[in-house]
Amino acid sequence: MIKLKPGREKSLRRHHPWVFSGAVASVSGKPKAGDTVDIITADGKTVARAAYSPDSQIRARVWSFDPALEIDAAFFRDRVMRALAMRESLPAAKHSNALRLVHGESDGLPGLIVDRYADVLVAQFLASGVERWRDPILDALAELSGCEAIYERSDAETRKLEGLKSRSGFVRGNRNATRCPIIEHGLNFRVDVEQGQKTGFFLDQRENRQRVRTLAAGREVLDGFSYTGGFAIAALAGGARRVCAIESSKDAIEIAKENLAANPLDASKVEFIAADVFAHLRKLRDQGAHFDLVVLDPPKFAPTAAQAKNAARAYKDINLLAFKLLRPGGLLATFSCSGGVDAGLFQSIVAGAALDAGADAKIIERFGAAADHPVALEFPEGEYLKGLLVLKN
Ligand code: SAH
Repeated sequence: MIKLKPGREKSLRRHHPWVFSGAVASVSGKPKAGDTVDIITADGKTVARAAYSPDSQIRARVWSFDPALEIDAAFFRDRVMRALAMRESLPAAKHSNALRLVHGESDGLPGLIVDRYADVLVAQFLASGVERWRDPILDALAELSGCEAIYERSDAETRKLEGLKSRSGFVRGNRNATRCPIIEHGLNFRVDVEQGQKTGFFLDQRENRQRVRTLAAGREVLDGFSYTGGFAIAALAGGARRVCAIESSKDAIEIAKENLAANPLDASKVEFIAADVFAHLRKLRDQGAHFDLVVLDPPKFAPTAAQAKNAARAYKDINLLAFKLLRPGGLLATFSCSGGVDAGLFQSIVAGAALDAGADAKIIERFGAAADHPVALEFPEGEYLKGLLVLKN
């Protein structure tokens, strides 16, 4: 049982699922990591049942605000079933066989990420609670998804904050999973679920890649931070005249080239460049290169607000260069997946970049994560991906 300090139940009353260490007055009953604990207010009312994380600043993650609910295998089966049912009803389920099936807190399963790549599931257990219930969760996933193979990628840095060791490998079934074929809006991609970034593919950008595809006809496109070529290939499929894709990871570029070859497209129009985007954009500027559509989808520069200042500098740098490289009438699709940079700050950074580049530009659309990455209203932290479509006059 966790007893809260006076007044510290406020966020729980709004159904926010985290209890921070600073809110805890006392812990009784000697719970171990992952054990279910009752969360009690200073005046003795039980407000939630949660998973205990002794090593984390997030000391407990709420399973339920119903104090009477049993937290057992049936509970997890029910949560997994709901998460899967929500995905089945999404339009994206008709456009792709790769979907995020479980999105952590926003699906009532704090710390659990599950992505489906055709008939292979990739699961990440990122907190003590889901780690404790790993077996029943895997059983429910296997049974309810019908997927025979489940690969575990519990190798994210965040596990360290929970005092958990890295673990990866097949936990159900077995196969070669370095090139899982998926189809997204009719385009073929290969996903390396063993060594690829995150769980292997950035599913959150699915609908934004499709949007960029519809904007690309006749344009010269630059795809900055291309990974395995998602935006580059979508742009080519949309009729881009030429695509220049920049990515620092050679492994990612190797798969990007395979992805390009896996589609009936004119591969000669695409150039993959293994380089640092910051340096290469400067080089292109110095060479006097120009583009009609620039995509910038960098990694998380600021995981938390503490890194926001340095991140702001990095975002400004690349966006400023992008404005310089754009022809008049050109489009910039610019993204940030940093939890520590909110939509308002990101917009002001992009505004500053345009100003310093001497570009007159306006926002014509906004982007977010695809619907299989829902944001529970009580958990605004779940909203991390934001993007702007900016037209340069
Ligand atoms: N747009 C991609 C996802 C991009 S993820 C898609 O739709 O699939 C961000 C990518 O940026 C990663 O592949 C990472 O390897 C790459 N990266 C990180 N820092 C970089 C840098 N300084 N220069 C070039 N690429 C970088």
